Amino acid sequence: MEKRIKALRDQLHEHNHAYYVLDSPTISDYEFDMLLRELIDLEEAHPEFYDPNSPSRRVGGSVTKKFPTVMHDHPMYSLDNAYDFSELQDWESRLQKVLGNDSISYSCELKYDGASISLTYENGVLVRAVTRGDGIQGDDVTENVKTIPTVPLRLRSELEQRFDIRGEIILPLSGFESMNAERIANGEPPFMNPRNTASGSLKLQDSAVVAQRPLQCFLYQIVTNVPLFETQVQGLEAAIDWGFHVPKHFLEAKNLEEVMSFIKHWETHKNDLPYEIDGVVVKVNSLDAQAALGFTSKSPRWAIAYKFKTERVFTTLNSVDYQVGRTGAITPVANLEPILLGGTIVKRASLHNADQIEKLDLHIGDTVGVEKGGEIIPKITEVNTQKRLLNAQKIQYITHCPDCNTPLVRDSGEAQHYCPNTEGCPTQIMGRIQHFISRKAMDIEGLGGETVALMHKQGLLQSYADLYVLTEAQLLPLERMAEKSVSNVLQGIEESKSIGFERVLFALGIRYVGQTVAKKLARHFKNIGAIASADQESLMAVDEIGTRIAQSVNAFFSNPLNVELVRRLKTYGLQLSMELSAQEPHSSKLKGMSFVISGVFDLFSRDELKDLIESHGGKVTGSLSSKTNYLVAGANMGPSKKVKAEKLNISVIDEDTFSEMISL
Ligand code: AMP
Ligand code: ZN
Repeated sequence: MEKRIKALRDQLHEHNHAYYVLDSPTISDYEFDMLLRELIDLEEAHPEFYDPNSPSRRVGGSVTKKFPTVMHDHPMYSLDNAYDFSELQDWESRLQKVLGNDSISYSCELKYDGASISLTYENGVLVRAVTRGDGIQGDDVTENVKTIPTVPLRLRSELEQRFDIRGEIILPLSGFESMNAERIANGEPPFMNPRNTASGSLKLQDSAVVAQRPLQCFLYQIVTNVPLFETQVQGLEAAIDWGFHVPKHFLEAKNLEEVMSFIKHWETHKNDLPYEIDGVVVKVNSLDAQAALGFTSKSPRWAIAYKFKTERVFTTLNSVDYQVGRTGAITPVANLEPILLGGTIVKRASLHNADQIEKLDLHIGDTVGVEKGGEIIPKITEVNTQKRLLNAQKIQYITHCPDCNTPLVRDSGEAQHYCPNTEGCPTQIMGRIQHFISRKAMDIEGLGGETVALMHKQGLLQSYADLYVLTEAQLLPLERMAEKSVSNVLQGIEESKSIGFERVLFALGIRYVGQTVAKKLARHFKNIGAIASADQESLMAVDEIGTRIAQSVNAFFSNPLNVELVRRLKTYGLQLSMELSAQEPHSSKLKGMSFVISGVFDLFSRDELKDLIESHGGKVTGSLSSKTNYLVAGANMGPSKKVKAEKLNISVIDEDTFSEMISL
């Protein structure tokens, strides 16, 4: 068994390197998952073969309450900055004073914009990962860093010596955007920029959450007491051989001119990279020369950061629009006089929320500075108040919904305003329907935004439940609805009935219940009834579910309109419980208990109740007898049953009490 565990670990380390570092996978994702699954199962069964650097650590799962502060083996310095060529020349003159007038060669590297990290390896395995902190000591975030797939847990080299390697934890732009798209879809405020998100991720308490973030680690410097190489560039090449992820855009430059052309190239091409950089780091290439130059109290004398100027343009703020999301969240957006920025014409900028507008003290017609960060949509970073017209109007944040005119609310501690008219606000209604049919939810094709809006206007669609009663005769007269598309839509709606419970739960559009949370809730509670009747405490017993989500789930199901929607979906045949085969081994909570089911229920069908009772070890019989323990009573139960139950001393319970019995 030990042999198999070891073989699996070896294979998974290899595949991981091929997939994430070399970007050329050698097996399918499915095969990879199968190997990992096998390893995790074996490790669980054989804790005696524990290995802190097993590839299974990548999935996270450990919870850290407090990150201990530890001393760095070698201090982490910051870098001196240069902003133009003459400052680089001044720097070279200072170097020449120490090194003599021979030409100096340099290593030119991109300056990745993320969170700096120091990794320590000993005997070829990762022993710890520490944030920069104050440079002398930082926070030990090893368990979180282990989940980042580009960090080798084990080297592809026999090197036993202890050493540090420095790098930057970054969030690629695509990952940042997809995380934000998901947050916005869930009604959560988006992250501000990739760098803060990356550094915030390192301090998350649950490493399983870190594992889900698409973080990467770029390495740029090996640090040892006695140099292992002659040059910095050799060090980078060795790091690549050892299995580290070193972006390939580094260059050995023979002189400052070559350095300068590297800088110029990346200043104009930085937006072609899939991640953010904020400059170029230039290092003296020879490690002997580095040793001769040494450090000031703050930074190495042998390196300098050439910072790119953030491109900022000034333009006029014409007006502010307010968009309503499907959860009612209001987002202000600035309309600008169109202007060229970073190669594209910019017409709109995000303003985030009311506080942001207040902080900038924005007036209509203001001359505003606009910058592009990691987001697709640029942001306003400053106002030139000198250019403000005398009678300029200060922007008054709206007090009423631009769509339905309901007074907006803002909960304490929340930055966002909301339109509370959940049931009547057209944008929210349509947003919920669109979310429901979207690809990650019910995946109903052939229904675009305009068609949904049209159907809503014509009174055909008030809620997503109405989708399931649409008929051909209703759809055909609609604009752009030929026979073919009508049958496609109806077929799509029909097929959605077989979509699994987890996705249906996500599709309901409960605020803060994104795909991941929906999955966790579905797997824990198994059916919609149990979720609907769970109190805050039992919801929070599920990992990753905190007060905010629990409250939102409770609020959703305490609204009778939502309960009615769910009830309808159920009658239309949607999957509102986990398929039995997908459920975990059934419990024996109801072992030895006998049940009778009577009446109709809001959230379960009678068959489902029966399945649930049986899967938890209970028995269901058709009529009450002295052996019956519980009568599960729904609406419309005949009065004689109740009398009989009382006579026989049988507990009469409703569906909520029942779901508590099985979810505890
Ligand atoms: P600063 O924070 O502006 O003092 O810049 C220093 C930081 O730049 C270091 O702490 C690193 O985290 C980061 N950095 C990014 N890329 C590199 C690189 N290629 N070489 C050295 N430092 C880098
Ligand atoms: Zn509204």
